[in-house]
Amino acid sequence: MASNNFPSQSHLLVIIIFIIVTLLTPITTNTSPQPWNILSNDNFAGKLTSASSSVEAASIDFGHVTKIYPSAVLNPSSVQDIIDLIKLSFDSQSSFPIAARGHGHSFRGQAAAKDGVVVNMRSMVNEDRGIKVSRTGLYADVDTAWLWIEVLNKTLELGLTPVSWTDYLYLTVGGTLSNGGISGQTSRYGPQISNVLELDIITGKGEIATCSNDMNSDLFYAALGGLGQFGIITRARIKLELAPKRAKWLRFLYTDFSEFTRDQERLISEADGLHFLEGSVMLDHGPPDNWRSTYYPPSDHLRIVSMIKRHRVIYCLEVVKYYDEFSQHSVNEEMEELSESLNFVRGFVYEKDVTYIDFLNRVRTGELNLKSKGQWDVPHPWLNLFVPKSQISRFDYGVFKGIILRNNITTGPLLVYPMKRIMWNDQMSTAIPEEDVFYAVGFLRSAEFDNWEAYDKENMEVLMFCEDAKMDVIQYLPYHASQEGWVRHFGPRWNTFVERKYKYDPKMILSPGQNIFR
Ligand code: FAD
Repeated sequence: MASNNFPSQSHLLVIIIFIIVTLLTPITTNTSPQPWNILSNDNFAGKLTSASSSVEAASIDFGHVTKIYPSAVLNPSSVQDIIDLIKLSFDSQSSFPIAARGHGHSFRGQAAAKDGVVVNMRSMVNEDRGIKVSRTGLYADVDTAWLWIEVLNKTLELGLTPVSWTDYLYLTVGGTLSNGGISGQTSRYGPQISNVLELDIITGKGEIATCSNDMNSDLFYAALGGLGQFGIITRARIKLELAPKRAKWLRFLYTDFSEFTRDQERLISEADGLHFLEGSVMLDHGPPDNWRSTYYPPSDHLRIVSMIKRHRVIYCLEVVKYYDEFSQHSVNEEMEELSESLNFVRGFVYEKDVTYIDFLNRVRTGELNLKSKGQWDVPHPWLNLFVPKSQISRFDYGVFKGIILRNNITTGPLLVYPMKRIMWNDQMSTAIPEEDVFYAVGFLRSAEFDNWEAYDKENMEVLMFCEDAKMDVIQYLPYHASQEGWVRHFGPRWNTFVERKYKYDPKMILSPGQNIFR
């Protein structure tokens, strides 16, 4: 949490235990086996490499603001390979750090393992196995190295689909389940971590367990949003539904923030409502589209831009209703009724009608476009926050209309949309605000290698503003430079997080790149 809560007595107790255990841990010399001397271990022949190309690739991520070198990279071909590696580290006198790397789409070295071993989960992907769909059970058993786009393609073959998504689908199942997995579906279906029935996890002791709400439930909930701290998830059972065919996709522009948020909050409170709801902030930085989606008809660009120029900041509400041949007739009527009930600026409503998969995979076109111009692999000093509903107007005033306008450097997509706390489960590890409704706010910036620090400074300014104003804002996809930051981040959940760490990864082997435990 960004607020400056003084540690409670129980926090202090955990911190004291932490310090004592750290002091009592024997100082070991580099006896066997460190990653560099397990390279010759027969169990890993041909799978563990210290080749500079592999180590270099594992040292960077989508953020491009860190470079953290492992000693070696494991390309496992089976779950047993990962068990063997973790066991080797756990059983050794001087354990070495290990991090699962999904698609490396973190922003700040979260999937790195300095001087340790990065497990390249994608080497587990095998076309012939890894996604088993149960039509009767309405679930899919998925190897967590698969990307969500691959899961979608497989389930659609049987007319089924997962229900909760991220905006971008080229992320691994293991990577998003370690954070939360949010998008415009979260208000209706909950985050991806609320739509998982069962997991297989290899703990930091090298033991594999199947877990669910009814079986090893503490480990199950620890791993969901657990930032890779409690184990490497190798299989997830994901809920499915019948796949809709098409998506009616509407955008409404607002100049008044309170009208915008009032409409958003009303829509997510309606039980039989929309399938997707997001929102964004639009600033005066050229054409209204951005890399996340090309949406507005070119003929309307001028009048949208002139509205932005007049107001300096405007807002876009984005909603989707899925439909198929049976609901085709009613969907137009429903969307018309919906439009009439909203308080957007009349005349600024836009509509698209696309296939279900084109809607879900909408960010891909922008990605390919940026890649073709060499603008994808650039620094991404992103900041993602959860802002309690009671603070969102102050946030708009102080951040969107304050810091962002004043500094005038942020151009990337700026997301702001509400979700309901009730769709999350308090036993899961992800830290979320206490209020019933909170907003996801995302600053998804692209920078240059010589100017990303200016954006990072702006991120700090935003965080300081929230902290000074005691807004209880929590980072999503968090980064904290100190353990004190993590204690504040988890707030009342910190003790449980630490207890679970000692239970499942007592030697602090896993996901050191999150920088939580040293
Ligand atoms: P990695 O970066 O490889 O790993 C992330 C963390 O998870 C690391 O700590 C790693 O050790 C751990 N980990 C990875 N696999 C496993 C595993 N199998 N078991 C245990 N731990 C594991 N997030 C959203 O919620 N919603 C969005 O809409 C969204 N959009 C995005 C768009 C883009 C373009 C990008 C780059 C990111 C986006 N994200 C979004 C963030 C994304 O969900 C996280 O960064 C996620 O961790 C990326 O998945 P990955 O497979 O690349 O994970």
